[in-house]
Amino acid sequence: MSNSTTKVQGCYINGEWTVPDPSRLIEVKNPANGNVIAVVPRGDQEDVNLAVNAAKEAFRSKEWKALEPQQRGRLLFKAAEIIRENKEELAKIETLDVGKPLKQSEVDVEVAARYFDFYAGIADKIMGETIPVQEGIINYTVREPIGIVGHVIPWNYPLQIGARSIAVSLATGNAAVLKPAEDTPLSILKLVELLEPLGFPKGIINVVTGYGHEAGAALSGHPDINHITFTGSVETGKRVMESAAQNIVPVTLELGGKSPNIVFDDCNVENTLDWVLRSIVQNSGQTCSAGSRLVIQETIKDSFVKQLAEAMEKLTIGAGIDNPDLGPVLSKKQFEHIQRFLTLAKEDRIPVATGGNWVTVDGCEEGYFLQPTILNDVPPEHLLAQEEIFGPVLTVSTFRTEEEAVQIANGTPYGLVAGVWTEDVGRAHRVANQLECGQVFINHYGAGGGVAQPFGGHKKSGFGREKGLEAIQNYTQLKNVALRYSF
Ligand code: NAP
Ligand code: MG
Repeated sequence: MSNSTTKVQGCYINGEWTVPDPSRLIEVKNPANGNVIAVVPRGDQEDVNLAVNAAKEAFRSKEWKALEPQQRGRLLFKAAEIIRENKEELAKIETLDVGKPLKQSEVDVEVAARYFDFYAGIADKIMGETIPVQEGIINYTVREPIGIVGHVIPWNYPLQIGARSIAVSLATGNAAVLKPAEDTPLSILKLVELLEPLGFPKGIINVVTGYGHEAGAALSGHPDINHITFTGSVETGKRVMESAAQNIVPVTLELGGKSPNIVFDDCNVENTLDWVLRSIVQNSGQTCSAGSRLVIQETIKDSFVKQLAEAMEKLTIGAGIDNPDLGPVLSKKQFEHIQRFLTLAKEDRIPVATGGNWVTVDGCEEGYFLQPTILNDVPPEHLLAQEEIFGPVLTVSTFRTEEEAVQIANGTPYGLVAGVWTEDVGRAHRVANQLECGQVFINHYGAGGGVAQPFGGHKKSGFGREKGLEAIQNYTQLKNVALRYSF
C-alpha cells in the first residue's frame, strides 16, 4: 500500500520535473513483497506531445548544434563517471523495482556506465567518405543525426537497456524521449536526475512514464519521431512497427528469443555446466538472451542434467535486496504467464528434473518465487521448447548428430543468441556458420553485458542492431553531397 511517505515522481520534460496529477498515478511495486515504493504519472498523449516538442526544439537549438562532437563525448564520459559514483543507490533502486539480486543490479550499473564510456569515445569519430566520381567534382557523405529518437524500454533490464540506447543516441547528436515500462520506471528516472547537472541542453533527454498502450503507443505513433528503438515482446513489437509504418520511420526491434545452448559430448563439462546454469537463472530467467533451451548430445544428457539439477538445488532464493542467487519474478502477470507453461508441462507429462514449484519466502508472502526448473525430454517442436517462458525454466532436448543439433537449434520462430559447447574448433565454426541467430558464443555465454558487441535478432527476434559500433547506423542517416569545383 502506498502511504504519505511514498515517493511521488514526475515525468522529466524539457529539463523540468512535472507535477503529477493526483488522479492519474501509477503505483510502482517491489516484486519481492508487493510494497509500493513510488508513484509515477500515468503519462498520456499530451505529455508525449510536450516531450516530443521539447526534444524537437532542443535538437534544432543552436546550443545543441554548437556543441562540438568531442564536447558531447566529454559529457558522456562524465555521465559514466556519475553513474559509477552512484552505483550503490542505482543498484538498490533497480533491485527494489525489478526484483533481481543486488549483485546483478551492481553489474547492470557498471554495464550502464560502460555504454556511456563506449559511446563517449565515438562521438567525434563518426565520419563520412569521399567517392571518386569524376574530375572536377568532390563527392562525399556525411553521417548526420537522425533527429528525435523514441526509446520504449522493457522492465527486465531498464537501466542497462535505457543506457545502451540513450548513450549512442546522444553521442550521435540526437534528442531522446524515453518511455520506461510501467512496472519499472525508477532507475531511468534516477539516471536522468543524475545527468541533469551535467549540462545537456534542456529537452535533449525527456522521460514520460505511463502505460504501454497509452504513453508507449503515443510515443511510437508520434509523427515527429524519427526513429524508434523498442525492446519487448513480439506482439507489442508488431504494434510499434505498424505505428512506425504510418509515419515512415525506421525501428529497431529487439524481441527476445528462445536461445539454445548446444552441448556436444566433447565439451568441457565443468565450464559448460557453469554457463548453462547462469544463462537461465540470471534475473530469474527474465532475460531476452536467456539460454532457455539445452540442446544436448544424447550420450551425455543424463549425467549432465543430473549435475545441472544438483547445482540448481544449491541456489538460494529470496528478496533481491538480500542478495540471493534468484529473486522473484516481476509480477502476478509474469507468474501467471510462467504458470501456464508449467501447467502445460504437467498436462503433457513432461518430466521435471528439478524445481517446478513456487516457494514462499519469509516476509515476502506477496512475491512470486520459482525454483529453478528443468523440464526434461521436451520434444523440440513442443510449445515449451518454442515459446519464451521468461522465467528460470530450462527445457532439455537431445540430438544425435551435428546436423540434427543445428536443425533443432534453428527450429523455433526466434533467432537471438546461441551457445556452442565443444572442444572441436572445426565443429564450433561449422555449427556457428549454420545458426540462424544474431550472436553465437562458443564455450562461454554472455547473457548480459557485451557493450562492444553488436546485438540483435534474426527471424521473430527482431531486426536492427543495438550495442557496439553497429548501433551507430540506426541513430544516424547518410547524406551525400556532390560539389562541382571546376567548370
Ligand atoms: P511488452 O508489452 O512488449 O513491453 C515492452 C515495452 O513496451 C514496455 O515499456 C511497455 O510498456 C511498452 N508497450 C506496451 N504496449 C505498447 C504499445 N501499444 N505501444 C508502445 N509501447 C508499448 O512486454 P511485457 O508485457 O512487459 O512482457 C510480455 C512478454 O514480453 C514477456 O513475457 C517476455 O516474453 C517478453 N519480453 C521480452 C523482453 C526482451 O528483453 N526481449 C523484455 C520484456 C518482455 P508497459 O510495460 O508500461 O506496458
Ligand atoms: Mg516495480
